[in-house]
Amino acid sequence: MEKYGDLIEKQRKFYLQGKTKELSFRLEALKKLQSLIRTNEQELMDALKKDLNKSEFDTYLTEIGIVLEEIKFTLKHLHAWAKPRRVKSSLATLGSKSYIYPEPYGVALVISPWNYPFQLAIAPLAGALAAGNCVILKPSELTPNTSALLDKLISENFPEEYIAVVEGGVGVSTALLNEKVDYIFFTGSVSVGKVVMQAAAKNLTPVTLELGGKSPCIVHEDANLKLAAKRIAWGKFTNAGQTCVAPDYLYVHSRVKNEFLHELKLAIHDLYSENIFDSGQFTKIVSERHFKRLISFLNNGEQYLGGKYDETKLTIEPTILDMIHWNDEVMQDEIFGPILPVMDYESLPKIISEIQSRHKPLALYIFTENEKIQKKILNEISFGGGCINDTVYHLSSPYLPFGGVGESGIGAYHGKGSFDVFTHEKSILKQTTMFDLPFRYPTMKNGLKFI
Ligand code: NAD
Repeated sequence: MEKYGDLIEKQRKFYLQGKTKELSFRLEALKKLQSLIRTNEQELMDALKKDLNKSEFDTYLTEIGIVLEEIKFTLKHLHAWAKPRRVKSSLATLGSKSYIYPEPYGVALVISPWNYPFQLAIAPLAGALAAGNCVILKPSELTPNTSALLDKLISENFPEEYIAVVEGGVGVSTALLNEKVDYIFFTGSVSVGKVVMQAAAKNLTPVTLELGGKSPCIVHEDANLKLAAKRIAWGKFTNAGQTCVAPDYLYVHSRVKNEFLHELKLAIHDLYSENIFDSGQFTKIVSERHFKRLISFLNNGEQYLGGKYDETKLTIEPTILDMIHWNDEVMQDEIFGPILPVMDYESLPKIISEIQSRHKPLALYIFTENEKIQKKILNEISFGGGCINDTVYHLSSPYLPFGGVGESGIGAYHGKGSFDVFTHEKSILKQTTMFDLPFRYPTMKNGLKFI
């Protein structure tokens, strides 16, 4: 197994020179990253086309645009975020001043997945650089063109003692995790998240785990069905359902189910061409293994829409499976593909307790005009984040920290959150030497003593 100790040592040495902590250095690095992305947009689009058949529109919207926005937001606010903050002192520390000094961890390891292979590598990288860290980035081996391009762009523009891309699969990831780094930021599956946390535990390395799971989407009887259908179709089938926060399954009120499914069918036809196999616009499934797993679900329940696939193109039509139950195979794990199982309900408390009895979801979506129901769901179900009357869009706001809870993850980023996860808050009490309060000393008897 390859060893990465030398690389980490090199980065640690560079980090200890203190350059990465200088605000001007961080701003410079972020601006360089920003301009690199802008000047290589076409190369990125080509790589994502090869890896996932992503359309240029989707690549810009969900990979490049979102990262450029994140960097722009960070450049605007970094000056304020990086400053030491004065906070109040308590009565017990009378005469002192209290400060919080944001401090980088040092060498951060970022391990990223294949489904948004550019965004999910670069957004954490930008956060880590903003906070003043050195970074080792390990992209996914399942999207080799994007991984190679990331390696090329970074290695041609940054010294490896500051940012290094290490390409490879499980073996490389395991070797990196065997070394001691100062922070680990992992995005991927729940099962590998557990492997990462175990490896981190050996050195008590702090971690952020951005994981997945089954995210429910509830359509209540009073929802604006047409709009709900459009927003759910987009959230589910963008990237062929290979989105960590895609609605995994639908709960639709039985009174509106038929009408809603009809609207959903129209919305899917509107958004995606009739023949997705030849349009060249529909994202493919990342690998044969993932494709085979997905098509094994197609006989669950009853097919309401779709169900066709092309193995040579690793493409599956947007598919709706009706009459689904919790014991169906498709309901056992996160689907991560363009297959939407539908269950109907009459009792809201019943579906709330069904969701509560499972792992806490990464996202949850509720479509209803009724504020009492909105509040009830927010109050009673724990989940990472989500939307009322929309899907997926919560992750596009830099003001909303994005992350999971329980099995769907630990920690959150985006906006200031991306700076915060890679920052240790060092608390400092600056004590006065003008006087010394006697109360804390067991032997001191004579009140206030001036020095
Ligand atoms: P994955 O866990 O298989 O792989 C993620 C990364 O870990 C890759 O770089 C891979 O090389 C590495 N890896 C794989 N197995 C490993 C092992 N045994 N030891 C060490 N490293 C290993 O995940 P994936 O298939 O790339 O991505 C899909 C999963 O990621 C889904 O569950 C999805 O929900 C989740 N995800 C979460 C978010 C989020 O922000 N919460 C975003 C995207 C994807």
